[in-house]
Amino acid sequence: MATGSFNPFKMAQQQFDAVATQLGLDQATCDLLRNPNREIHFNIPVRMDDGSYKVFRGFRVQHNDARGPAKGGIRFHPHETIDTVRALSMWMTWKTSVVDIPLGGGKGGVICDPHNLSLREQEQICRGWVRAVAPMVGPIQDVPAPDVMTNGQHMVWMLDEYEKITGMKMPGFITGKPLGLGGSLGRTEATGYGAVYTLREALKELGIDIAKTTAAFQGFGNVSQYALDLYTKLGGKAIAVSCWDHHDQKSYTFRKKDGIQFQTLLDITNRFGEIDKEKATAMGFEILDGGAWIEQEVDILVPAALENQVNAETATKIASSVKVIVEGANGPTTPEADEIIKSKGIWLIPDFLANAGGVTCSYFEQVQCNMNYFWTKEEVLAKLDEKMTHAYHAVSEVARTRNVYMRDAAYLISVSRVAEACKMRGWV
Ligand code: NAD
Repeated sequence: MATGSFNPFKMAQQQFDAVATQLGLDQATCDLLRNPNREIHFNIPVRMDDGSYKVFRGFRVQHNDARGPAKGGIRFHPHETIDTVRALSMWMTWKTSVVDIPLGGGKGGVICDPHNLSLREQEQICRGWVRAVAPMVGPIQDVPAPDVMTNGQHMVWMLDEYEKITGMKMPGFITGKPLGLGGSLGRTEATGYGAVYTLREALKELGIDIAKTTAAFQGFGNVSQYALDLYTKLGGKAIAVSCWDHHDQKSYTFRKKDGIQFQTLLDITNRFGEIDKEKATAMGFEILDGGAWIEQEVDILVPAALENQVNAETATKIASSVKVIVEGANGPTTPEADEIIKSKGIWLIPDFLANAGGVTCSYFEQVQCNMNYFWTKEEVLAKLDEKMTHAYHAVSEVARTRNVYMRDAAYLISVSRVAEACKMRGWV
């Protein structure tokens, strides 16, 4: 969310401007890509459970669809702003491009707080959102998905409303649906596993045996859980995990130097990704300060909680043993921290490459829905592995041959692909 003076859209535009200069993009292409193609702002009037009426503000932004239908989630958040949605839609364009899936970038949102809304009220918001955007979304126009505070149930209400409007069964309209209602096997694991597929390739390139490495994770939610699961399955030793504690309103790091077992830790974690301190202590975990995860003497750091965590202050605490950082979260590293990471010679796998497994699997969900034929979990994960591995090597090759930072290499690839698609279509 946009907080204080921080404006995510301005940051997304600055990032784009830097890449555009490096690529020597012409003025028209810059003008096209630094702003969304289209956006819609609308009211969603809802009759509340107590009989009163309340009007919620909704958005859908399509940043670019030159490479295929726009793709991106819908957030429900009390501090949602149009600039946050714009920034996220732009980042989605780069993310779908860097993994080379035939989709563009979009994002949506509603200013609301689901904590204070009944399920019936949330359903009315979902249905109202779809009625407002119906003419500009659909399996061959723009495909939404869950994001912050929305889930599979919200997606099914939205799908149902869309199918009522169109009079057709179109499960490919939206992704992130539950299994049995058009969801894909492997989606739960996709983002975390995808990040570790890229890590595995990076370690191979660096000549490091994954079975001899140790790692520390920030966060123990969807992304971090499955990243830790696959990392330990491949032989790595996870020694620290940090997470938020709602009760204490602070974060803690849970350390176990002889290695964390995925299932054991999952068993004492709630649905918000918060680990039970008492049970963890009884299991032999040391409980440290929330910031301790980044100071561990490990080979690999996986920031997979939230943005702005590896910054000018925390990055200086990174141990000299760290060789790779895999960004599971969106925007965990600030530009100042990037400079510190570069100076320490750490190999970075940037967010929109490392965490693209989620959108890639959403794309697979859409493909399966459109052909009404569903793959096994093994098939989904094998296809995911292939996509992530291929994308990783494309970025790494540019980083090595042009001697640029991995984040810059990923941007160079994704922006040039989108610019090329716009040119070929004769837009600029
Ligand atoms: P989640 O809500 O499932 O988990 C978040 C985790 O972060 C929880 O364990 C929480 O306790 C922890 N956390 C929150 N504040 C913290 C703090 N101050 N210090 C330490 N830990 C803290 O979220 P998620 O789906 O795992 O997403 C994590 C990140 O990955 C976000 O940046 C998200 O945008 C990004 N992402 C997620 C997906 C996906 O498919 N889930 C895909 C792409 C990117």
